[in-house]
Amino acid sequence: MTKAILVLNAGSSSLKFSLFEYEAASDLHLMAKGQVEGIGNAPHFVAKDHHEQILADEHWQGEDKDHDHCLRAIATLLNQHYQGLKLLGVGHRVVHGGAHYAAPVRLTPGIINALDALTPLAPLHQSHNLAAIRAVASALPGLPQIACFDTAFHRSQNQINQLFGLPYSCYERGIRRYGFHGLSYEYVSSTLKQREPEIAAGKVVIAHLGNGASMCAVQNGKSVASSMGFTALDGLMMGTRTGNLDAGVVLYLLQQEQLSVQQVEELLYKRSGLLGLSGISSDMRVLLDSHEPQAALAVDYFVHRISRELGSLAASMNGLDALVFTAGIGENSAIIRQRVCEQAQWLGIDIDPHANAANEFCISAIDSPTTVWLIPSNEELMIARHTRTQLGL
Ligand code: AMP
Repeated sequence: MTKAILVLNAGSSSLKFSLFEYEAASDLHLMAKGQVEGIGNAPHFVAKDHHEQILADEHWQGEDKDHDHCLRAIATLLNQHYQGLKLLGVGHRVVHGGAHYAAPVRLTPGIINALDALTPLAPLHQSHNLAAIRAVASALPGLPQIACFDTAFHRSQNQINQLFGLPYSCYERGIRRYGFHGLSYEYVSSTLKQREPEIAAGKVVIAHLGNGASMCAVQNGKSVASSMGFTALDGLMMGTRTGNLDAGVVLYLLQQEQLSVQQVEELLYKRSGLLGLSGISSDMRVLLDSHEPQAALAVDYFVHRISRELGSLAASMNGLDALVFTAGIGENSAIIRQRVCEQAQWLGIDIDPHANAANEFCISAIDSPTTVWLIPSNEELMIARHTRTQLGL
């Protein structure tokens, strides 16, 4: 009988799943993965096995296909293709663990309620993460469920790096820098430790450059500082999110331009970033292929913000030994990596253009004082590993 761990990542309009085979004394192997995109609008369900063979490719009619419906479709698909499968547990990506949860946790009704209380801190994500947990609990009562938090990796940061210059009572009320993308940083730094332990023991900045983008200073495998703060809006400019923004701009939009809170939220999260600056697309590939000056401006600003954040994160560690690129843009765009590295020569970075163009593991020149690496992220595998550990397997 095949034993497996299911990983779920529920977003506002998407539900992603990965199924990993468990065998004692070996690493977890991916069996299948897939996702439903466009939930609430025009849902599209795609699933593939580990040979990239299509298991499902369905466009669903109707706006009534909610997360519950998607979970049932995934369960039906797994029953059809993997008969006799024994599910050992489900690992969930949960965006917010607040100040308390510094590690993955096995869920109980009490902990689910405690995580619910954090929903105001991540209104766009937390409720969907918890909805998936509740749906599994009601469909498969007794099946262990593990929450893995995007914030947990950053709880090693000292207090200075978690503060804002607000009255201290705000910090006590939970208004502090939490940091996100923690599962990606944890996976990337664990991979670096496995492959280059001496580098991983030093001062490393990891640049997670995807549709959501952030950077993290990691020293000896522990998060020191992150570009993301109270929400996933701070730091780098992203596909549709502003990144770092003078809080006075928000006041101006509300008071002088009379925008509603919902309009400002929509502007900051959905209409800004690469999309807003270029007026063309949030997709880096489209902007790099475009000849429009606004596309070039958006790309220039994206690189500029990374360069500034890199300097800031290096300062938070009093130095830099290595830079690691990960996520969609970081893993695939040699030109963005090259431009970031060219602006970071003052930090001792000398890129090897051939290694960079070939997407190699080490992309810095052989005598570069600061080394540069390329490590594809795998948040799902990180969640599956945590789930396995929490299950005591
Ligand atoms: P992620 O959120 O990690 O899936 O990353 C999505 C982002 O990666 C999108 O902005 C894509 O345009 C970008 N991306 C993927 N492949 C490439 C590529 N070859 N060159 C530039 N950007 C890419």
